[in-house]
Amino acid sequence: MPPRASSRLTAFVLGPAGGAPATEVLLALSAEGEVDVVEGGADWTAHEAEREHFFANGQGGFRVVCPACEAQATSRFWKALEAWRQGGARTFTCTCGVSSDLAELQFFPAAGFAARWLRGAKAASLDLTPAAQARLESLWPGFRVVGSRG
Ligand SMILES: [Zn+2]
Repeated sequence: MPPRASSRLTAFVLGPAGGAPATEVLLALSAEGEVDVVEGGADWTAHEAEREHFFANGQGGFRVVCPACEAQATSRFWKALEAWRQGGARTFTCTCGVSSDLAELQFFPAAGFAARWLRGAKAASLDLTPAAQARLESLWPGFRVVGSRG
């Protein structure tokens, strides 16, 4: 049964810092006939920004964990993110004393920072097709897939 329109997601494929331009990556995927980046399809566009953006699902249940002590850090993460957006350092200091770049924290479900990304509107899933997976691994090593409802 095909997914209902309301069950569709917005999928983001986040490129690594210093990776190939998003337009080039999208073109490479399309040129190979791999327009279905994710299983079930999506409408893809390429994006670049001067500064990194933070991508996460817009739903409840989002958790952030310190990589050193595994303590729950969600609410303090949002405060640190806000401080970074206002021009502060992109640093999180845990109650265990360890400081990390915000990007090094563990996010459940997946989240991340990127200045270049592909946006898949009305994505049927977040499962990459095998061909897209292989292509992205060579063009954008360390890429991440983040999904958002609506
Ligand atoms: Zn910690």
